Amino acid sequence: MKKIVMKFGGASLSNGENIRHVANLINDYCNQGYSIVVVISALESVTDKLDQAAEQAKIGNKEYIKLFKEEIMEKHLMVTKRAIKNRQIEEEIENIIRTTINELTKVLTGIFYIGELTSKSRDYVLSFGERLSTTIVWGTLRDLRIDTQYYTGNEAGIVTNDNFGEATPLLEVTKRQVKKKIEPLLEKGIVPVITGFIAATQDNVITSLGRGGSDYTATIIGASIRADEIWIWTDVDGLMTFDPKLLTSAKLIPELSFQEATEMTIFGAKSMHPKALEPAMEKNIPVRIKNTFNPKNPGTLILDELKIKRGEIVKAISLVKDVALVNVSGAGMVGKPGTAAKIFQVLGDENINILMISQSISEASISFIIRRNSLSKAFNVLNAALLDRGLIREVSVEDDVCVVAAVGAGMKSTPGVASRIFSVIARRGINIRMIAQGSSELNISFVVKETEGVNAVRAIHEEFNLDHNGFLDF
Ligand code: ASP
Ligand code: MG
Repeated sequence: MKKIVMKFGGASLSNGENIRHVANLINDYCNQGYSIVVVISALESVTDKLDQAAEQAKIGNKEYIKLFKEEIMEKHLMVTKRAIKNRQIEEEIENIIRTTINELTKVLTGIFYIGELTSKSRDYVLSFGERLSTTIVWGTLRDLRIDTQYYTGNEAGIVTNDNFGEATPLLEVTKRQVKKKIEPLLEKGIVPVITGFIAATQDNVITSLGRGGSDYTATIIGASIRADEIWIWTDVDGLMTFDPKLLTSAKLIPELSFQEATEMTIFGAKSMHPKALEPAMEKNIPVRIKNTFNPKNPGTLILDELKIKRGEIVKAISLVKDVALVNVSGAGMVGKPGTAAKIFQVLGDENINILMISQSISEASISFIIRRNSLSKAFNVLNAALLDRGLIREVSVEDDVCVVAAVGAGMKSTPGVASRIFSVIARRGINIRMIAQGSSELNISFVVKETEGVNAVRAIHEEFNLDHNGFLDF
């Protein structure tokens, strides 16, 4: 019997009808003989709203809390009504929702009185999104007469350190505990329904795995019970060669390796939790991305490199917007170890994340890419810490650029890929501002003017035949 962990995200849970649809899907797979563990994230946009409510509580906006409570209550009660048909179950779930939201209001009121929002209390507030949504899914499954059991992530056995906001699971304890809790249920034919995203410290204080963390919950559980596959259900067919909204010839990618998928998530192809693939990769459990609204489509399968059909050289292209280029130069940097370290140190101290780096062999300048919204901060700290002290001569910036990244493991073993990429870009008359290739050789990234980003992508997409990649069209 196949053991599958299935995670459903906000996009699959946008209203009561969709939740009913999700429950029916789970029911179908149960009837086909699969053993299923379900992981649920918050209803669409609820986590963002909880975050805003916590912020408003902190600054003393009492009216906002009141309205927020009404809004969130109505949303969840409405969804429950639509999802669940049996009156008795519906009432039971409605009662849990009311009690849970009253508890949430108390927490927000506490923040309001103290006027302080710690990352610990924020995690507590955010945890309500998953507690509410998972309760509704649990009720809907019962309505379909599925034998099921509700657990929060911590009840299921996930323990973390106390790095609130982005806690790290203590994997060994977690795996042992989850296995002990979950496996006996599966043996009895019970479907566990578990809140994504939430965990707790060893002292039972609620933590979160960081935004988008439900994917991570699914792979942690999958690794713990040694599932056959982990399925991430969303509202698109899978990972695409590029964003189909920007390029109509973009195609679904049927298979890719863990390493390739990791590169793609780094570049934001799907907003998957950056660490989500790790537990699956370690235990070699395939991860499948599937469309809740098109379940017949096999989706994208992410698996071990060795098992993958030999694919294209370039598999996918990402475009990272809202970034800026910073160039730090000065002859004083030549042959002086430690300058790069200083630059990255001052940025790191300000929590400015560096997305891409390149330094020419002359060492007279270092260029790097950061998010555009941290540009002015970066400029100021670099000036204060380095320029004013004579360590560098100039800091210049460009804020109208984007990063194009071509991803594919085939690049590693194929000479001449970079030259093909850069020739086709040159033929289109597009100027490249900066280039980087990580030593993994799984991606080549370069920077162009933002207005030319999509053109650059189209050129590579055509050059490497991604629009006719020979894969099946579903
Ligand atoms: N609800 C959480 C978030 O929005 C976790 C998740 O959706 O995976 O970040
Ligand atoms: Mg999500």
